[in-house]
Amino acid sequence: MKAQPKASHFVDGAYVEDKAGAPIEVIYPATGEVIAVVHEATAAVVEAALASAKRAQAEWAAMKPVERSRILRRAADMIRDRGDELARLETLDTGKPIQETIVADWPSGADSLEWFAGLAPTVTGETVPLGRDFVYTIREPLGVCVGIGAWNYPSQIACWKAAPALSLGNAMVFKPSEVTPLGALMLAEIFVEAGLPAGLFNVVQGRGAVGASLVTDPRVAKVSLTGSVPTGRKVYAAAADGVKAVTMELGGKSPLVVFDDASVEDAVGAAMLGNFYSAGQVCSNGTRVFVQKGIKARFLERLAARTAGIVLGDPLDEATQMGPLVSAAQLEKVLGYIATAKAEGARLVCGGGRAAPNTGFYVQPTVFADVTDGMTIAREEVFGPVMAVLDFETEEEVVARANDTEFGLAAGVFTADLTRAHRVIARLEAGTCWINAYNLTPVEGPFGGSKMSGVGRENGRAAVEHYTQVKSVYVGMGPVDAPY
Ligand code: NAD
Repeated sequence: MKAQPKASHFVDGAYVEDKAGAPIEVIYPATGEVIAVVHEATAAVVEAALASAKRAQAEWAAMKPVERSRILRRAADMIRDRGDELARLETLDTGKPIQETIVADWPSGADSLEWFAGLAPTVTGETVPLGRDFVYTIREPLGVCVGIGAWNYPSQIACWKAAPALSLGNAMVFKPSEVTPLGALMLAEIFVEAGLPAGLFNVVQGRGAVGASLVTDPRVAKVSLTGSVPTGRKVYAAAADGVKAVTMELGGKSPLVVFDDASVEDAVGAAMLGNFYSAGQVCSNGTRVFVQKGIKARFLERLAARTAGIVLGDPLDEATQMGPLVSAAQLEKVLGYIATAKAEGARLVCGGGRAAPNTGFYVQPTVFADVTDGMTIAREEVFGPVMAVLDFETEEEVVARANDTEFGLAAGVFTADLTRAHRVIARLEAGTCWINAYNLTPVEGPFGGSKMSGVGRENGRAAVEHYTQVKSVYVGMGPVDAPY
């Protein structure tokens, strides 16, 4: 199996290679096979990317928004037209089942391009009357934005950052995760075919140091990172030094609260989606499933039965429901958390080990019950198909326990009592919440975290504030009243 891109980077409208950069092997997680090799960006590649972005941005910002939008809409259509091919590439890059990548990854990216293309031309300023004089405001682009991606939704992340940035008149230099470098190159290629002027969306490959060199460059106005909390701290600090704007989409340990009166089938289905989709490698997953004692037995019984039916296998087979983890390192990490959970006394309900075929990085969908708040799997982000089920008795108790975490990305509530649902959601400390649903993230709704899980929001109208700045213009209509 091969998925070698035409070159490692995409700069100023064309593929660029510089083999002086350290090699990065792209490994197909289902087999461990090397399917491509790209090279880390050298300082020269980074310089070319930033220089072309800076050059291209001014002209792009001066275009009519509707003209910019037309290009992004064309890119969205091209993504949909090439859906099968792009889904296959995403599956090779990540190991996620094609059943998912065909409906979730690139399609959600196309949605964001289409939606922001529609929104951007409606973004206007305001006029503030002051009697004779007045103030008017303009929403201006920020300039050159840097996007840095995680490996779990590589193409969706690239689109979710590019769509608001470009539609609102910015340029972007994007660094994909070194684990999944392929999808962003396809996006750059599609943009150019759709008519995006050269330099507005550049892709440079590399590990953390390449990301760090982008963040500190004085030409960069804004940094949008999707990654872990430790990386977020570093990137936020580096951006603060240059007083740059940031969007931080970081990790989570989100609560999913299931009350006694909930539909057990719906709550079980949501808990499975929120722990097993993408083999559990989703930042907003509801990895602490709090189940009220009255339905605990029924919940666990249905959960075990439905989990036993999950089809693991070849990610390219449309029948496969769960693929491998993204890398050998992630496999080791997740197996380590499973071992710790067992050692700390969590009760294993199902799964709990590696899954065949052993050449790939597969882990069985795993459920632990009787998990308590202090256990490691209830506190740390596992990022694998490992669900922790905790018991609770009262609403007051579960709200306090759900909030007892440094993270605040997401939260969900299942109950038939809508008054309680809204009351509980209002008290949960999380940026992205669901009632009687989980992990649905339409581009129309703002997405992001509170507390250590992030700063700013992607998607929805909220993203406009994070890719523009307000210029306020006072217009004097009469003589200047000076006391001198
Ligand atoms: P990571 O933090 O290891 O890496 C993220 C990106 O940052 C990579 O591209 C990496 O090369 C880069 N990077 C590392 N050090 C850097 C530095 N000093 N300066 C600049 N860039 C640097 O995260 P990961 O392992 O790729 O992804 C998994 C994490 O991402 C999880 O914690 C997950 O919760 C989080 N995530 C969050 C969201 C969200 O929207 N909130 C979405 C997906 C993933």
